[in-house]
Amino acid sequence: TRGLRTTCGSGILRNFIPPYDATSYHKTKQMGFVTLGKTNMDEFAMGSTNETSFFGPVKNPHDLSRVPGGSSGGSASAVSAMMAPAALGSDTGGSIRLPASFCGVVGIKPTYGRVSRYGLVAFASSLDQIGTIARTVHDAALLLEVISGVDAYDSTSLDREVDFTGDSDVAVRGIRIGVPDEYFSGISPDIKDAIDDVIKGLEEHGAVIENISLRYTEYAIPVYYLIATAEASSNLARYDGVRYGYRSPNVKKLTELYEKTRSEGFGKEVKRRIILGTFSLSSGYYDAYYLKALKGRTLIIDDFRNAFSKVDAIITPTSPTTAFKLGEKLSDPLEMYLSDILTISANLAAIPGLSVPIGKDRDGLPIGLQIMGDHFQEKTILNIARAIEESCDPITPDI
Ligand code: GLN
Repeated sequence: TRGLRTTCGSGILRNFIPPYDATSYHKTKQMGFVTLGKTNMDEFAMGSTNETSFFGPVKNPHDLSRVPGGSSGGSASAVSAMMAPAALGSDTGGSIRLPASFCGVVGIKPTYGRVSRYGLVAFASSLDQIGTIARTVHDAALLLEVISGVDAYDSTSLDREVDFTGDSDVAVRGIRIGVPDEYFSGISPDIKDAIDDVIKGLEEHGAVIENISLRYTEYAIPVYYLIATAEASSNLARYDGVRYGYRSPNVKKLTELYEKTRSEGFGKEVKRRIILGTFSLSSGYYDAYYLKALKGRTLIIDDFRNAFSKVDAIITPTSPTTAFKLGEKLSDPLEMYLSDILTISANLAAIPGLSVPIGKDRDGLPIGLQIMGDHFQEKTILNIARAIEESCDPITPDI
């Protein structure tokens, strides 16, 4: 956002004013959108709760003692609390879908390549996608249409037809929907019941429900955390106190400048990931970890390829639980990483995924349902989401 401070939730960018606009933002401006403000997020989008932000956590409008989900938690929280009708977010492993689910709003991560990443602060470039968050499926789809499209500034963006809202008819008759067993273990009973109800409703409306297996799901977390940290360690090398961003004062030597700037500028989670990523890319461990993770990623891609030869879309919970308490998982990174278990595979396979609210649990907290589709099948999953939305009550926090 040219001229508008962009921190990415990091101390190292605490005073950074960008010199140019990201393509997605530029497109919203061209369409006459008004920017109300920028929202908080986990530092460099690394987190699932918004608690890793240099500026402190965002809270969940449904219960201020709980997390909004992350990393795009500021966006989801603002939309849920009626501060804005829609927002942009980024999703590397679930950062649009998880907060959308925790805050009771709609969030979509499109196919990798749908939206230009030009001007998006890079976390893990082969996984990062910009997407939208809104209170209705239609609004999320409309905004996604605005920001989608090929861009000469991003060679990974693709030229495909952009039409996510064309059909006024949202019939699901005949649509084949897969339900993978692997996504239902360890799910809270309220979430399971809510999803079962939706599946029953879809069946009554003529959808064909099929049990499917995505058997490499258990490897998604280790594969993701190796690939994402490896790419992050390389992407974040640019913050060195020389080019832009924070610079540690009173240093005398160049190496001291790098060390102090990065030590003082980055938060704990970011440092943990840089170290992890550097380790798995180092010559002694590359084959054992990074290369192995790439092979695991291929298996996960094949899993989805097989599934989409049989079904048009896949339905799962967005998260194993609803929003948890602030601080609950902060001291245990592994626990935290497990909150992404149901969302990260879509990023590894580069397929579109969305979260739509379907009800509340016994504590009154929103439950999200995830729909994943094959590459460039955003329209299919948005149509199913609209059909589901029509049968569910809107979820508004008491504010
Ligand atoms: N929670 C995941 C992580 O910490 C995903 C983050 C994201 O999608 N940006 O890496």
